[in-house]
Amino acid sequence: MTQDSSRSDRPRAVNGHAPDVFKREGQVPMREYPKNAPVDFVIVGAGCGGSVLAAKLAEAGMSVVLFDAGPFFQPKRDFASDEREQDKLYWLDPRISDGDDPIELGANNSGRAVGGSSVHFQMVSLRFRPEWFKSRSKLGYGRDWPVDWREMWRYYDEVEDALKISGPIRYPWGPDRGRYPYREHEVNEAGLVLARGAEALGVDWAPTPLCTVSAPRGKSPPCAYRGMCKIGCSVNAKQSMLITYVPRAIKAGAEVRDLAMVGRIETGPDGRASGVSYHRDGEWHFQKAANVVVAGYSIETPRLLLNSANAHHPQGLGNSNGMVGRNLMVHANDAVWGEFDEEIRWYKGPPSMTTCEHWNYADDDPSKDFDGGYSFMSQGPLPGDFAGTLVSSSGLFGDDLLSKMGRYNRMAGLKMVGESMPSPDNRVTLADETDALGLPRAKVTHSFCDNDKRLQEHARGFMSRMMRAAGGHNLFETQSTAHLMGGCPMGDDPETSVTNDMGRSWDVDNLWICDGSLMPTGGGVNPAMTILANAARIADRIIDARFH
Ligand SMILES: Cc1cc2nc3c(=O)[nH]c(=O)nc-3n(C[C@H](O)[C@H](O)[C@H](O)COP(=O)(O)OP(=O)(O)OC[C@H]3O[C@@H](n4cnc5c(N)ncnc54)[C@H](O)[C@@H]3O)c2cc1C
Ligand code: SF4
Repeated sequence: MTQDSSRSDRPRAVNGHAPDVFKREGQVPMREYPKNAPVDFVIVGAGCGGSVLAAKLAEAGMSVVLFDAGPFFQPKRDFASDEREQDKLYWLDPRISDGDDPIELGANNSGRAVGGSSVHFQMVSLRFRPEWFKSRSKLGYGRDWPVDWREMWRYYDEVEDALKISGPIRYPWGPDRGRYPYREHEVNEAGLVLARGAEALGVDWAPTPLCTVSAPRGKSPPCAYRGMCKIGCSVNAKQSMLITYVPRAIKAGAEVRDLAMVGRIETGPDGRASGVSYHRDGEWHFQKAANVVVAGYSIETPRLLLNSANAHHPQGLGNSNGMVGRNLMVHANDAVWGEFDEEIRWYKGPPSMTTCEHWNYADDDPSKDFDGGYSFMSQGPLPGDFAGTLVSSSGLFGDDLLSKMGRYNRMAGLKMVGESMPSPDNRVTLADETDALGLPRAKVTHSFCDNDKRLQEHARGFMSRMMRAAGGHNLFETQSTAHLMGGCPMGDDPETSVTNDMGRSWDVDNLWICDGSLMPTGGGVNPAMTILANAARIADRIIDARFH
């Protein structure tokens, strides 16, 4: 295989080298494994779940090949300060979206790159409320996780330290926790709007714990506050998987295969996984493996398991109970925007510099007429993104759009991350249509339930009050969704879940899942830290099971 390192549409992790993510052009040595000898673990998907698992298993001495359908970017060379150019970070291959409340799929919820969605995530780094791990037993809704919150808490500590999360000394909600590894970022004007509004309404607010460094860290400079985070951080302040766990995995002996789309998990005569068929550089290949882990996120993980159906597993792999693809969840991402007399210049700095988790913890508030919770954050959309929001949500065009955009520097917004209830009817199935490789595309069916809608209405009302209290006028609301969760829930009961508590398939004992699809519930906070902590936990469980 040839390497043309100037092109990100050709594999770059080849010939015993991977791109050096801290340089424009350099390379680092990378181990390679033969295809016809089984590696200990093949991991499909180099995002949050897959790269944490790869690093920890490789560091424990296991042979690991980490596949990703997307390119291996070098941020300094490949990430432009140009919103449209950066569409290359997203999973934009068509999917079919269906249901009463169809989800907009693509840029807003799935990445396609080594590093996964963390390459363009907005870096908000929050923990689940402890009770959410047992929301059915303790709060009377949703599903219980097969995990104790204290165990997760230890792994939150581990991943927050690995990513040097920058956050406040005292975080107002949840159990006491230690200090964040790096000091909080200075709050921008957009963040101060939330702070002012919260103080006026008598609720707590906090500088958002963020996954970008507030001081130098090794080869990462501190955040430059130019606000390009959602289109890829070209200066490497953002601690994405691409510049943290992936290099760790490679250093420890893992091989990364970029631009390698896994089309099927193959099984042997005993029904166990034998390896994966993948498409790279114009050809199909087969990699043998003792274990296969799927970490493709909430749509591609079920899609791959369903696409791997065979005579032994006619409903798809790990799907004898029909649960693969079910309980897909999103976060409601409704927002309230408003104009201010003074300049805000909200694009300066990471997009969400302050947060309010009041409604994740206010169980006893008499105005709370819904189960579950929501948080919300200050906003700083880039101009193209915001113009798109105005067009799609408010129907503005022409002079009206221009006039609104003319006030861009005097605007601020609050956007929710709202829990939605898991439902088996919200699901990923296979469409009749196929993609360019001949693989059936995913079809995603999604509807909100009445509780979800009450929660969203409550949030829009509360955020509007807060915006007014902060001095905002000409308010308007938008409705959207963000983040994917679930689709292959883990659980204690083989009848109602896809894997056990360590992500191991109930049906196929050498098949594993390690990504956001495992989440039985979504909580009212952004999911990445929970996915990372769970992956770190699963890695230790696998290592313990193997070596002790
Ligand atoms: C715009 C945006 C902003 C976000 N902001 C935040 C935030 O501020 N805070 C937060 O907590 N979360 C945020 N998220 C969500 C967070 O990024 C995801 O929840 C998280 O990355 C999911 O981790 P994962 O490992 O499940 O999947 P991903 O990180 O998406 O990784 C999956 C990887 O698998 C690869 N893949 C899939 N199928 C195959 C296949 N068949 N073969 C080979 N490779 C495959 C994909 O290319 C992808 O790289 C954001 C997401 C988006 C899109
Ligand atoms: S604001 Fe900070 S994290 Fe965001 S792109 Fe700029 S340097 Fe990177």
